[in-house]
Amino acid sequence: MPNNGTKRNNLLNNDSLTKESSMAATAFDQRDGFIWYDGKLVAWRDATAHVLTHALHYASAVFEGERAYGGEIFKLAEHTERLVSGAQTMGFEIPYSAAEIDAACNETCKANGIVDGYIRPVAWRGSEMMGVSAQANTIHLAIAAWPWPSYFSPEARNKGIRLTMSDWQRPSPKTAPVSTKAAGLYMICTLSKHTAEAAGFDDAIMLDWRGQVAEATGANVFMVLGDGKLHTPTPDCFLNGITRRTVIDLARKRGIEVIERAIQPEELAKATEMFLTGTAAEVTPVGSIDDYNYTVGDITKGLREDYERLVGKTPVEAAV
Ligand code: PMP
Repeated sequence: MPNNGTKRNNLLNNDSLTKESSMAATAFDQRDGFIWYDGKLVAWRDATAHVLTHALHYASAVFEGERAYGGEIFKLAEHTERLVSGAQTMGFEIPYSAAEIDAACNETCKANGIVDGYIRPVAWRGSEMMGVSAQANTIHLAIAAWPWPSYFSPEARNKGIRLTMSDWQRPSPKTAPVSTKAAGLYMICTLSKHTAEAAGFDDAIMLDWRGQVAEATGANVFMVLGDGKLHTPTPDCFLNGITRRTVIDLARKRGIEVIERAIQPEELAKATEMFLTGTAAEVTPVGSIDDYNYTVGDITKGLREDYERLVGKTPVEAAV
């Protein structure tokens, strides 16, 4: 059995992971800079929470993942809206208005000198009560920002990342608040991603509770079939991603027909092109899902370019 050190090194040697997305040299609690925490900027290392925090035990937290390009947070209003409504779905109110949260995200970027980077707001239930009931708990909000050039390595992205089918499935809307970025939902994603990485894949694709194609562990999925149309699963039990909606608009602007429908796993064998969309993943071509292979074709390349142009990336960065 490898010891923990070996396991860690194996992960670091997996060339499909970027330095940032694998265990970065500097742990996230040991960095310099500032974190916006309950209304003010605090030194990065002082942005701590007590071990008896409700969210740590009961996953009573929602978060966001945003990207800034050229000093502007892309679709900030949509991200804040999802954070606020996700908290409401979880039964709590974030004690800041959407306008205050937007301003705090911008302030955090500015304080850390982030022009191109990733922004992570998180809202959670605090420590007043420590049981399933958390009626009296204070609601906290923190926002961090850091540079994060590419979710998957640029090489893996250009040739198409390698996915494997997960054994874990996305839950029914009757089981979990599936349209939120509730922390608890990511337990399934980490299980799926770790299994995929241990087997040498970049990521996993998950079916839903009905056995239909759902999404990857942090991104939505699209495929091109022989009809030249773009097919993507109806987001009825997983996140209707902001990038997903943006890419659907871009495809329609290009005159590509987009069909949102139930997709059966057998159909993955018939796809010619496949790609993922997400704030972190942007538009990432998929080269294979287990034994099924896909080309990084014209539709994928075109939409990746359109997306990168829209967010304001330079042509060099945008090159496939
Ligand atoms: N699905 C999951 C599970 C995610 O974590 C994300 C990333 N937020 C997405 C889809 C894509 O959402 P978005 O495009 O809004 O980032």
